[in-house]
Amino acid sequence: MMEQYVEIKAANSDCLLFYRMGDFYEMFFQDAEIASRALGIVLTKRGKHLGQDIPMCGVPVERADEYLHRLIAQGHRVAVCEQTEDPAEARKRGGKAVVRRDVVRLVTPGTLTEDTLLDAKRNNYLVSIVRARVSSPADEGRFALAFLDISTGEFRLTECDRVGLAAELARLEPGEIIVSDALYGDADTAPMLRTLPVVTPLTRDVFDGATAERRLASYFAVATTDAFGAFSRLELTAAAACVTYVERTQIGKRPPLSPPVREAQGATLAIDAATRANLELMRTLAGERRGSLAAAIDRTVSAAGSRLLTQRLAAPLTDPPAIEARLDAVAALVADPALRGDVRTSLAAAPDLARALARLVVGRGGPRDLAAIRDGLDAAAALAVRLAQLAPAPAEIAQAAAALRAPDPTLAQELAAALAGELPAFKRDGGFVRTGYDGRLDETRALRDESRRVVAALQARYADETQVRGLKIRHNNVLGYFVEVTALHGERLLKEPLNKTFIHRQTLAGQVRFTTTELADLEAKIANAADRALGLELAIFERLADQVIASAESIKGAAQALAAIDVAAGLALLAAERDYVRPEIVAGIDFSIEGGRHPVVEQAIDGPFVANDCDLSPPAKANAGRIYVVTGPNMAGKSTYLRQNALIAVLAQMGSFVPAKRARVGVVDRLFSRVGAADDLARGRSTFMVEMVETAAILNQAGARSLVILDEIGRGTATFDGLSIAWAAIEHLHETNRCRALFATHFHELTALAAKLPRLYNATVRVREWHGDVVFLHEVVAGAADRSYGIQVAKLAGLPAPVIERAKVVLAKLEAEDRTSPARKLIDDLPLFAATPRAAPPAAPRDETADAVIKALASLNPDELSPREALEALYALKLAAAKKKE
Ligand code: ADP
Ligand code: MG
Repeated sequence: MMEQYVEIKAANSDCLLFYRMGDFYEMFFQDAEIASRALGIVLTKRGKHLGQDIPMCGVPVERADEYLHRLIAQGHRVAVCEQTEDPAEARKRGGKAVVRRDVVRLVTPGTLTEDTLLDAKRNNYLVSIVRARVSSPADEGRFALAFLDISTGEFRLTECDRVGLAAELARLEPGEIIVSDALYGDADTAPMLRTLPVVTPLTRDVFDGATAERRLASYFAVATTDAFGAFSRLELTAAAACVTYVERTQIGKRPPLSPPVREAQGATLAIDAATRANLELMRTLAGERRGSLAAAIDRTVSAAGSRLLTQRLAAPLTDPPAIEARLDAVAALVADPALRGDVRTSLAAAPDLARALARLVVGRGGPRDLAAIRDGLDAAAALAVRLAQLAPAPAEIAQAAAALRAPDPTLAQELAAALAGELPAFKRDGGFVRTGYDGRLDETRALRDESRRVVAALQARYADETQVRGLKIRHNNVLGYFVEVTALHGERLLKEPLNKTFIHRQTLAGQVRFTTTELADLEAKIANAADRALGLELAIFERLADQVIASAESIKGAAQALAAIDVAAGLALLAAERDYVRPEIVAGIDFSIEGGRHPVVEQAIDGPFVANDCDLSPPAKANAGRIYVVTGPNMAGKSTYLRQNALIAVLAQMGSFVPAKRARVGVVDRLFSRVGAADDLARGRSTFMVEMVETAAILNQAGARSLVILDEIGRGTATFDGLSIAWAAIEHLHETNRCRALFATHFHELTALAAKLPRLYNATVRVREWHGDVVFLHEVVAGAADRSYGIQVAKLAGLPAPVIERAKVVLAKLEAEDRTSPARKLIDDLPLFAATPRAAPPAAPRDETADAVIKALASLNPDELSPREALEALYALKLAAAKKKE
């Protein structure tokens, strides 16, 4: 057996090997050590190998999913090795023959299908990355990315550059990334790849461009991939790597993937990783879903709907007609609350069709997956009927309704007829086929159940014959059926005449067990009938599963349609509930929000949320958007205001209504958001360096259609440094990037810049002083903050009274001095950075005395002078200089 183990392990050396032995998956050698540590299970020994003890540990087959989950979560890969024949067959081959075993599947983080291993609300992407070979300068640094979710069948492709690559990965949050060994080891890409969670380097053949198209075509069983669209060689290579990896991990099974679709360049709003984290789109800076934008807007009722919502939120669109199409669907469901309610009720009853389908296709499905298909198809059909009442239906809804009608109705009928009411988790448990569905199965079951009645009758007869009232016929896996009596009565059964009928099997502390010839015969009959019944059920299962697989395309389409309707209905409910408005999407660079609110904060606070306007649209005659400089004391609401406007842009472009009275959004192509280091809780150690690196990225990348949010940039360093950097950054945004931007700052000096930069607009968050306390009004108005109210805020925070009093004295003194400080006049003195330097001052008339002194100085050599000579030279110089004064 160990020989077999070592052989299989060698073929799967990069995985932990789950080696099936009876009711356990065992691990040996180093695998056992790793797994026992990772899972906290006992490490034991079994036999010897080369004179050494063999470490071993195991997990019960029934609980394997749970252990797999933990290993996968820790980044391990697992090869599952099953017994592929009955141990009885092995025995037939000869005394010492080892049961045949084979790896039936590799479990890796990016190729999961089990519900227990997946997050229902998130896609689990497998991503492959390939880099262009640099044959022309245009290819330099180009990457192609293919990504798929085998649990839902989605499969897409995109090309990007180095910067875009990081942004794409931030959007997809892959479960697993595959790259070639070469890319993994490359000095240029390795540092980035090593920071990503699960990167699996693979051999070159997986990334071979020459065979890529063939491999891809063969996966989809088509002659050529032309019908999928025209893909570059790079994209084909990435796509082929994905399907090859899927085939390898599923050991030849082909989960139902949609043909790959290219994501058009620039079709989605580019949001880099720092911005995503910062805006808390999917999770908060603390890493939780609660408190994120996703959680705040998710009103979907199905897991598939939630996944689609998350996808759309991660990748808002940039094409106005595409955005409008989504908004039309939401608007229709906002306008019709009755329809919305009905739709959501149907959706709530629909199980996760896509994932059930994927499991059935890879042969990992159970009776409940068949039931999920049945219920999902029923819900789809019901929904299609209800949606037909919407006239005229917006295109998105009409398309979805068509997809919902597509699956063959006889499939759902067949499943409904075949499946029993209560379903076991595994098909091997049997009992899932409804009585009356299959005549042969019913007969066999009757036989099996009849035998059981015969057992009961036999028990009554034995009890009678032996006069032992407590005599029972029981069953276990070791003995099969047996007669059991207490020890007291056991004595009698062991003696004449009863010992003729009752054959002793086992004596326990309190009981004695026997068998009889009659019972053994009966047992064989029962086992036979039960086996046959299960065999018949399994055959029915396979037939039904095949029918489902034959309809995979239309089922997948229906699943996607259900998700799309769920998203539209969920967003409509959100809009109705929270009074959101349909944004006006325009092609220009307007950005004007009336009465905007923060979608997450407004749900989180107790009191009312103060709505605020924001207008970054180009001022008259300007061809670039505005920049707001937002001042105001700590806690006034600056950060909230900045973020709410970014979030409104994201919501509008993902096709959602927005928390505002009115919103006009000129599509944003890239969104940037950075927070000054001191606010950056997520990083723990806030570093000024990080802040600067990220600010640099914005200043280098933002363009005319971008929206930039900078929150207290420059606060991570000394005041004057910080002020100078913030100052220069605003000038750069205004003159070079020419993008729409919101800039919050505690440097009041920056408001003076508005005098020089025409598209700069000063806004401040109002506070009122009341009896020496500060009251936050959270109201954004034109103008600059008069002061920072830091001491009042400190007082609110509970600083001791003497400290507050002392601080006031110090502040008064500092402010008096500051008025005379040169920094105040900076704005008048400092020319705009982009302006030409001022002309040099006119040359002064020549000064002959100075020339003479300089000449004299030049002639001196201090190393050669004695102290006395030096002193004399100094007197001479003084004298020469004094002449000038006269
Ligand atoms: P700042 O960045 O100016 O220090 P924040 O934006 O962090 O201030 O806001 C501080 C707190 O004020 C927030 O946690 C929120 O509870 C509250 N707040 C901010 N803006 C508003 C608003 N418009 N309406 C109501 N409460 C608000
Ligand atoms: Mg703030």
